[in-house]
Amino acid sequence: MPCPKCIEFGWPDPQEPVEGSEFCVFHAPAEQKGRSIDLFNLAVFTRINEWDQSRSCDLSGTIFPGDIKFFPSKTNTLLPMKFSHSKFYGKVDFSHFTFHGVALFDNVLFYKQAIFRNCIYIHCQDQVGTVSFNNSTFYNTADFRQSNFDCHTNMQNITFKADVDFGGASFNAWASFSSSHFFTANFLETTFNNQTYFNIVEFIHEIKFYTIHAHPESIHFYNLSSESIKNIKFRSNEVKYITFSCCTWPEFLHTQHEIECDDKLIDQYIELYCCLKQSAVAAHDQYMVSKWHFCEKSLRLEKIKKERGVYYFISITWLYSMFSGFGERPFRAGIWLTFFIFFPLLIYSIIYLSHTGISDALNYTMASSIINKWIQFIPIIKQIHWPAPTTLIDSLQFVFSSLWQLLIAIQAALFGFALRNKFRR
Ligand SMILES: [Zn+2]
Repeated sequence: MPCPKCIEFGWPDPQEPVEGSEFCVFHAPAEQKGRSIDLFNLAVFTRINEWDQSRSCDLSGTIFPGDIKFFPSKTNTLLPMKFSHSKFYGKVDFSHFTFHGVALFDNVLFYKQAIFRNCIYIHCQDQVGTVSFNNSTFYNTADFRQSNFDCHTNMQNITFKADVDFGGASFNAWASFSSSHFFTANFLETTFNNQTYFNIVEFIHEIKFYTIHAHPESIHFYNLSSESIKNIKFRSNEVKYITFSCCTWPEFLHTQHEIECDDKLIDQYIELYCCLKQSAVAAHDQYMVSKWHFCEKSLRLEKIKKERGVYYFISITWLYSMFSGFGERPFRAGIWLTFFIFFPLLIYSIIYLSHTGISDALNYTMASSIINKWIQFIPIIKQIHWPAPTTLIDSLQFVFSSLWQLLIAIQAALFGFALRNKFRR
């Protein structure tokens, strides 16, 4: 009676069960192998070395009880490999291994460190092959540095519970990381020579996309949460390679903590926001133009705060922020405009009431006098009835009201500008 797991996984050569287990040596649980880890690994290598080169080497569903290192074939024979549904309880090392056409690691559990450094995944018989790690889980670190993915790469619905490193790797065919969960990831100096997709992925911590090489707009982020986007670390150089669709944007890409800890990061983020704004302008995306403009100016204000300390408010940038939210907050601008219009009315009312006291009956003469004084401060109402100033106080009042009119006119312009920015989106 052959091993039921061999039958389940469709092995072409079902194995006989080992003594004391219903499964073969490959599928038996770790404690039922009936041999040491070294002898088990030897059985695996023997199976690979003796495999018929015309078919995929099938090791699907295998339970690897301990550390194992797969050495590159000394005879330079290259094999398509199937490891789907396997479990690696120890450290697994495929460094410098060459997979030919097919490398299937679907639904695999890697409990310890997984090393795929300097691996090559090449085509088979002029057909684009497949590298697949779909639905697999890496409980420990995963190392794909300097690997060459010439085949289609499926890394969908993977869970990386620790760091994963793709530094220096090259994705030369279509690749997808969709629906995967990353803890921290490193794509430093990674090359993307084809379309690469990160649809509905989750980035729990920093994902570094610095100094990547790619074709313009070849890396796609789709339907990401604001938290995930915030964890993507990239600079102005990378903007041209990346597209974002249907994503929920965070208020800022930077965090307060980041810019407090590192002064250079402020300039770096300002440059990034400028580049993103430029890109949004080119795409006629007014909503994002406004967003990146606000982020950029906010950071410039942060820079001024750092440089000037408590005197940061003596700056045009601060005034621009305070009275119109950098031309992007019409509600704030409108509130200030209303305040500037009605503030003189409030002041005159208080002055008159302090002189006459509060009475139940409305004093029409007094009300008329207050309104007459008030309208002198509104720029759109001509000062026809303003008497020629004869005293110093009158002169000062005249100058002050004229300046106040200018203030209202400027605030009205800021309000109109912010309103236009709001409705052009
Ligand atoms: Zn079996």
